[in-house]
This record gives sequence, structure tokens and C-alpha cells, in this order.
Amino acid sequence: MRAISSKNVFFKGQLIEAAVIFDKGIIIDVVEKNTLPSDCTCQDYAELIIMPGLVDTHVHINEPGRTDWEGFNTATQAAAAGGITTVIDMPLNCIPVTTTIDAVEAKKSCLKDQIWVDIGFHGGVIPGNENQLEPMMAAGINSFKAFMIDSGVEEFPASDTNTLDKAMPILASGDATLLVHAELDTCNEEFKVQDKKSYQEFLASRPDSWEVNAIEEIIRLSEKHSCKVHIVHLSSAKALDLIKSARNKGIKITAETCPHYLTLSSDTIPDGDGRYKCCPPIRNNDNQESLWQALSDGTIDFIVSDHSPCTPALKKLEEQNLWEAWGGISSLQFGLSLIWNQLKLNNLSISHLVKWMCERPAFLVGLESSKGKIQAGYQADFVIWDPEAKHTIDKNDILYKNKISAYEQHTVFGVVEQTILNGEIVYNKNTINFTKSPKGKYL
Ligand SMILES: [Zn+2]
Repeated sequence: MRAISSKNVFFKGQLIEAAVIFDKGIIIDVVEKNTLPSDCTCQDYAELIIMPGLVDTHVHINEPGRTDWEGFNTATQAAAAGGITTVIDMPLNCIPVTTTIDAVEAKKSCLKDQIWVDIGFHGGVIPGNENQLEPMMAAGINSFKAFMIDSGVEEFPASDTNTLDKAMPILASGDATLLVHAELDTCNEEFKVQDKKSYQEFLASRPDSWEVNAIEEIIRLSEKHSCKVHIVHLSSAKALDLIKSARNKGIKITAETCPHYLTLSSDTIPDGDGRYKCCPPIRNNDNQESLWQALSDGTIDFIVSDHSPCTPALKKLEEQNLWEAWGGISSLQFGLSLIWNQLKLNNLSISHLVKWMCERPAFLVGLESSKGKIQAGYQADFVIWDPEAKHTIDKNDILYKNKISAYEQHTVFGVVEQTILNGEIVYNKNTINFTKSPKGKYL
């Protein structure tokens, strides 16, 4: 039996002075420090915040198949350094894509001695894989991603209505959730690009209406099949009313957004810089303000990274070609500080951070009774961090594979000091070393 304590333990919705007792990786109790049993050794962290480890349910790790883009070892080290103790991997852009039970096994076999935090997988829905959904559900996967538009990789084709009509009843029968990349191109004409460097042209080529159209369609299908749906990486505030009214009608729809939509803006993104390219695109300041509002009023449920890296060459930085550049923003390691920085500047409390980055994402993948909270019976996963310290995001500090960031040289509040997984320290800022054996497990 061991304990950690500080003047700022996040417990039952607020920061209190307390000690958290845990044993064999499970939280036993939260008590006043002077009431600790005499046989319990306690590490005290003074004023630092002790919070549940973050749960990031939207990460592209790409191993096997595109391990030069990202791999389990580097991604989970970056996660640990960012205070994340649970990562759920997306079914693309690895090869094979996670759309068959064989692929689930192939990916699991890559995890050995590689994962520094806990890992789970989302499955995928693609045309023709409906007979694989039940086996994958039987293997414990309860969330499946589909694209309503070209995914960017040929192994993961988009799902049309016909495909979703087949898949959704199967998912509903197992109480699984359909995750949707919600962009639907209903334009009759192809976008005629004039200047491939222009961010404004790129933005115009993927209008709000694509997200609105896709979400309208997915709400219709969710109602038809009584299937839970979750909108991944919501970018357009124009879709918020749709989500709100669907929910009021009893449709089981949730939504997430990402640090890049909440902290970057098309009003200031420079032209020709592929680091800022993602799909759906980052929109303007007004849109960003509405997304924050939607998080506050609960229309958007939570925040995840959508860490979607690639090699530097694929970002077409030298060519400054936004049309050819791979779409995806790498931010796995920095989510906590990016979001905390905004909260702090707006005088908002840490409780939002816990709700949006720990508690609610755990619900999406059925981990709500073991992850995302400091409470007896939960896994002893903690991030210990300093909310008043600032750091400048620097290439040299990046632990994920390809050292590219849209946030380079951004100075933000919030420094992670230690990350504890299952009762063991997996990251320590002062002695960054990942030479000990990885402690993560497959969920
Ligand atoms: Zn993604």
C-alpha cells in the first residue's frame, strides 16, 4: 500500500488537500494526510496538482504498416510525457487497417515491450466488412470508425449509406458506437484551386456545409437504426444546433473536438505551411469561440488530440503545397498544456479539464468505471503537474516520432512533472528516461 499527496488533489469536482492511497494499481481511498495508516509510505508533491491521467480516444499510431509515420513506442512515450495514461488507437493509417479480427490480432502482436501507457483499439467500418464487426465486438472492441468522405488512404474506403445501413444494426445489437468522420461532399462541381499555398482556398474547399450535411445524414441513420453515434473532430460550429436538437429528441449522439480547433485560427494561419493542414479544416476566430461555448454548455462532450502524424516529406513544407500535404496535426504530448493555457487565460477552472480530457472520453470506450477519475476502485493513473509553470513547445522536446508541430514556439502554462500509470511512475520530467521496461497494457 502506497500513497501520494498534495495540497491540490482533484477529488469530487474540486482541488483539496488530500492523500490518495493505492495498492496493486488500484485506488483504495482518498483521505486526509494525517489519517494515513502508519504502514503506508507517502510521496508528497507539495502544491502540484494531482489529477486523473488523461484519456485520449483519438490517436493514429500507424503501426504496423506506416511505422515511419508513428509507432507504439514513440506515441506512448509522448502520451506519458503529456500526462495521458490511456490511448485509443484509430483503425487507420496502419496496415492492415483495423477492420478485421485478423488485423486486431496483428496489431496486438506489435504491442509487446512497446507501450508506456494503456492502449485500446477502435475498429473500423468499411464497405464489405460487416461480417467482421461481430467478431471484433466479441474481442472487446466497442467503437468503430467510418468515413463519409475519402479517408486519404486507399485501405480505408469511405462508407456510403448502403454500407452504414448494413453496419449500424450490427453495432446497435452489441451496444457499440459508430464514430464518424463527418464530412460529406455534396458539391456538384470540383473546387478549382488557384493558389496551392493559400490557406483560405484550402479552407473554402472544405466548407462548413460538408460537416452539416454529414451530421444531418448520420442523425437520420442513428435514429433509423437506434445506433449510438459519435462525431469525431468536430470543426464547424454550424453543426452545433443539429447535434443539440438531435440529442433533445433522444438520439444518442456525442461529439468531440480537438486542441487545434480550440487554439488555432484561420485568421492567423500562414499560407503554405502544411503543419496546419487537417480535415476538417481549422476555421476562424468566431467559429472557435462557438466551439468553446459548446463545450461549456455540453453540446460538445470532450477534447481529444486527433494526433495524426506523418513523415516531414509528406507535409510538403518545402513545396508549400497545401493540396498535396498530408492532413493531420501532431499534438499528442501537448494537449493538457494547450487546453489548460486557454482555460487559465479565461479564468476557468481545472474541473473543465478533468471533465473534458479524463472523465468523458472514458465513457466513449466503456472505461468510465476504471479510468478518468480519482476514486476508490479506479485505476491508479495520475498526472502530477504545475499549472503556474510555463514552457515553450520546442522541437527538441517532442517525443513522438516525427518532430513536427503546429505549436512550435508557442509558450503555454502547464508543465507535467510526473505521470503514474497503474501505480507506477512512467514519466518523470527531470529524468526523462524510458530505459526501464514499458508498463502499459492492452485494454
Ligand atoms: Zn483522426
